[in-house]
Parts: sequence; structure tokens; C-alpha cells
Amino acid sequence: MNKLCRLFLLVLLSACAAYTYYDPGKAHHGREGFRNNYPHAPIGQGFWKWQWERWRAHLPQAAPSGGWPIPVVKADLAYLRANRSEGTLTWIGHATLLLQLNGINILTDPQFSARASPLSFVGPQRQVGLPLSIADLPHIDIVVISHNHYDHLDRNTVKQLNTQPGGAPHFFVPLGLKAWLNGEGISNISELDWWDQQTERGLIIHCVPVQHWSARGLADRNKTLWGGWVIEARNFRFFFAGDTGYSQDFQDIGRRFGNFDLAAIPIGAYEPRWFMQTQHVNPEEAVRIHQDLHARYSVGIHWGTFVLTDEPLDEPPKKLQQALAAAGIAPERFFVLQHGETRKLAILQ
Ligand code: ZN
Ligand code: ZN
Repeated sequence: MNKLCRLFLLVLLSACAAYTYYDPGKAHHGREGFRNNYPHAPIGQGFWKWQWERWRAHLPQAAPSGGWPIPVVKADLAYLRANRSEGTLTWIGHATLLLQLNGINILTDPQFSARASPLSFVGPQRQVGLPLSIADLPHIDIVVISHNHYDHLDRNTVKQLNTQPGGAPHFFVPLGLKAWLNGEGISNISELDWWDQQTERGLIIHCVPVQHWSARGLADRNKTLWGGWVIEARNFRFFFAGDTGYSQDFQDIGRRFGNFDLAAIPIGAYEPRWFMQTQHVNPEEAVRIHQDLHARYSVGIHWGTFVLTDEPLDEPPKKLQQALAAAGIAPERFFVLQHGETRKLAILQ
């Protein structure tokens, strides 16, 4: 199909997104769309001001000659495919993690495409190589998706995962996204509201509130829900924040679950603060989330892969080090991985 036709169709289709979740008994089920739990300035206000300012300031900065100093390591594919006994975490890039827990293989926000965009020829481009392909993955049992932004929900990736050898994974999505996945031929789906839970293969999976928004087109804003995921095994509790601004939701989650063994928290896509603050935490706020959750360890995600905002792509880990030092937290408690790097969960004791 002609590229412009495709763009037009996308915008048109998104205009038809139905919202049927209004419920005066649930504060986050608003009349026109889903809402966050805690008051904040309107998300997205000043978008054109931001675009003007960044154009004038020649931002975002181009990659240095030779590329960003962000290494990609080759994942140990034979080990990951054979492993059914050890808990592991592998960072594939951006918000995509492979978590192996109790012999179950889980992917978070899988994005394996060259761009985080509805179109193949425009939009944020992958800045570092993929450490492994979809075909390299072990058989994926569970996929959790935080929301429908293109850097978190990628059409080609979920379609490929759905046809993996050995059967489709079980997709966990927030309210409203099941219909979209159905439209892509995917049917093995659980759709959860905030604080809902479901047991799958011995793991308890909870959808929890974070502060964000949703949209894939121009007219579907907040028609589908966004959220974080808690994955509980017998002796390990994992938190995946997806995409979020700082809010009291994390204190609520910390209170409800008591503590976490490991939390995946975004640390990138935060500049300029006046525009991004309501939707994306900076490293300092990520450290507050780590504290609010009572996480023993945290891993920084949502950085180093796509240029979405104005800070240099390799800045977030440096700011994270400063924020941890200022908070008096040992640097190993909130770490970052290299693309493709695997950390055994047994080390996190
Ligand atoms: Zn997002
Ligand atoms: Zn994002």
C-alpha cells in the first residue's frame, strides 16, 4: 500500500477507537477516557512549543561520530534457550526485558523493530544493534505490555511472537488493548484493570497503576489503559513500571506488596522537564520510585536505544549514579545492564 495511504488509514482508524469503560465508581474510568490517580498538569500541553524550542537549540544532539558509546553484547543464546532452572534477567533494549523465572520465559514490552513508529520510514530509529532477534529467543510463555505507545507495543514484534514455534505466548495487557491485539490475529490474551490479578503457570500477575497516557493515533488519546506489572513467583517479586511520571502510585504499590526483589524502572526520556515531567521520570525520580517500592534491587530501563527526547542518549546512567550517591544508596542496588547482558537473579541477594 502507498505509504501516504497507510498513514491516512492509520489516523482514520484511530479516530474510530471506541471507549466503553466509563464508570463513576472507578475514578480512573473517566467519561471520555482513562485518567491517572493523582492530579498533575495536563500531559502533552506545549508540544509545539517544545518542538520549536528543540529546533532552535538543535536538539536532540546527533550521535557522535562512530555512534553512541553504548555497547551491545552478544547474549548467551544457548544458555538462555536451555535454561529452565535459574532465574535470569536480560536487557534486550529500551523497555524490552527477558525475565526467566521458575522456568517460565517472560518478555516485557517487546520492541524488536528498527523504528519505534507506526511507519517503517520515519520516526525514532534504533540507535544500537539488537543483541538478539525474535528467532533467537527461547520459547516465550508470557508477554506483558504496559501501554500502546510505539516504543512499547510494536505490531510486527507481537505478530511474530504470536507465531513463534511451539505456540503463541500468553499476552497480558491493560484494559482496552485486547481488541487491538485481536485485530492483529492474536487471541491468547488477558486484559486487566489496575489492581486486577491473574495466575498463569504458577506466577501471579498483577496490573498496577502508574502515571502516564496512551495513544497510537490522533483521536484515540487515553481510550486504552496504561499500567505497570507485578509478577510474583514463590520466592521472587518483580515489578515492571513500563513508562511513567512520578506519582504517589508507587507508595501505594509499595504499601500493598510490602517489598520487591527487583524493579525495572525507566531512567531515560526526561528532557525538557517542563514538558516531560508529567509522563517520564528522570533518574532522581526513578530513585524515589526504587525507595517507594522498597525494592532490594532496581534495573534502569527506557534509555540508550531510541532518541525520544532532548537529553543525550548516554546521559541517564550518569545521572542515575549522581542521584544514587545523593540518596546514599549503594550503586549496585540500582544498576543498568548493557544491551544483551544477562544478570542471574541469584546474585541479587
Ligand atoms: Zn509511553
Ligand atoms: Zn516509552
